[in-house]
Amino acid sequence: MHLLKGIIKSLKLILSDIRSAIVAWAVGLLLASFGVGILYLYITAKDATIAIMTTPTPLWLTTLLVLACCAYISLKFRQLYLSHNTPNKTPSENSKILYRVIGNYKWKVEIYPSGHFKVDHLPFCAKHDKKFIFKDGKSCPDHDCKNNISTYDDYRVKAAAESDIEKELRNNDISAFTKY
Ligand SMILES: [Zn+2]
Repeated sequence: MHLLKGIIKSLKLILSDIRSAIVAWAVGLLLASFGVGILYLYITAKDATIAIMTTPTPLWLTTLLVLACCAYISLKFRQLYLSHNTPNKTPSENSKILYRVIGNYKWKVEIYPSGHFKVDHLPFCAKHDKKFIFKDGKSCPDHDCKNNISTYDDYRVKAAAESDIEKELRNNDISAFTKY
């Protein structure tokens, strides 16, 4: 009885040893095949890269690439040019342009949706409806017209006009304004 128990115990030990050995082998085999796979992938990728780099580029592809670069650069320059030249030069889309005659001058007024306004620095001649030019201060370009603003009076005349316009706009009284 004692002997039988001893044999069974020994057999169990041997079996468990064999099982451990099989597991170890399986794991080892798996790792080895994984490693070989990685190595194979690496070699394939390297070969492909070398093949691409050593193949001469066709002329049409080179031309196409150069043209694409030129198109891209010119597009960027155009965008840069436009972004530097458009802002604040034209009236904003929602602003309103009206004209207001005060004395001998007709002022162009740009009114923004916020309620702010801007009076153009060059008025029009109220009589000839022509925009002033810079001549002996600011003058009507009409030959026989003496309508002008001297350099000395420039600031005062415009500030007085702005004061009148501000009062009228603030009181929502635009009856004296014209569209043209
Ligand atoms: Zn005039």
